[in-house]
Amino acid sequence: MAPMLRIVCLFVLLAIANGSAQSRPAPDWPVIEAETLKHFQALLRFDTSDSPGREREVVDYLTQVLTAEGIEVQEYSNEAHRPNLVARLKGSGARRPLLLMAHTDTVNVDPKKWTFPPFSATLDGDYVYGRGAVDDEDNVTASLMAMLLLKRLNVPLDRDVIFLAESGEEGSTHVGVKFMADEHWDAINAEYCFAEGGNVMREGGRATYASVQTLEKILFGIELAATGPAGHSSIPLENNAVARLAKAVAAVSAWQPEIRLNETTSAFSRDWRTSRSRRPPPDIGPSPIQPGSRTQTPIFGASNLGSPRCCAPPFRRIWCPADIALT
Ligand SMILES: [Zn+2]
Repeated sequence: MAPMLRIVCLFVLLAIANGSAQSRPAPDWPVIEAETLKHFQALLRFDTSDSPGREREVVDYLTQVLTAEGIEVQEYSNEAHRPNLVARLKGSGARRPLLLMAHTDTVNVDPKKWTFPPFSATLDGDYVYGRGAVDDEDNVTASLMAMLLLKRLNVPLDRDVIFLAESGEEGSTHVGVKFMADEHWDAINAEYCFAEGGNVMREGGRATYASVQTLEKILFGIELAATGPAGHSSIPLENNAVARLAKAVAAVSAWQPEIRLNETTSAFSRDWRTSRSRRPPPDIGPSPIQPGSRTQTPIFGASNLGSPRCCAPPFRRIWCPADIALT
């Protein structure tokens, strides 16, 4: 299960960084796994689809869990019903803090497309189904559990560990991370930040590799509009505005710009062969990616893509619905 994998990786990383993992009793992982699943499902059952977001309920839940274990929390709100939560475990101050960041809102959802209700957090086999299960309540849960375990196990830290549960990541950052960075930087100022991104790939139910993401693409929205002659639809009009707009949408979708590799993506494309598995990740293929080549596969952010989408409510500008109709 992805959240479990993440919490294990995160905890091991923190413990090793501290250099004293062996002197501490081993965590009871089956018990922790059950607790992780409980929090994960509880978080998924809050409908925080953005907009309107409704992150208040999640923050109240996290506050109750954290304060019950003696971890203080602070709230920072640009809009009262969309708070951000910050919790901090104090370290010795020998190093600058580590920030664990995860967002509590989700994109919108069309329940008709779902086998299980999107806010049911249904456990079916080894999988939990729900809106936000991989974006980003898994990271909220992993960060929460990291905080709880570090506190419970009384792990001595050489740096503060900060947990930011941010609101509004899905297109409303004025209430979330932008607000925190602009107005409350001191609360989240850190040397490193672990946030969403990367992935654990599986084949036949087994994890084959875990990737680390270092950057996000930046959204650059363009509104397409067309004009043409108005007239009765019984008479075909040259330069019909609807037809012209449809052609423009098709052109955006077919656009295949050149791949541009940054420092991370070129190192990954080049160096995976020397990794232990030596197996090409499924989204990279057998050969290194050539800068300037073209592809429609969104290879870990190396390719810019045109992505037509719908702005009609309830879907936000960052979401492409499954059905669209032009009447
Ligand atoms: Zn996300």
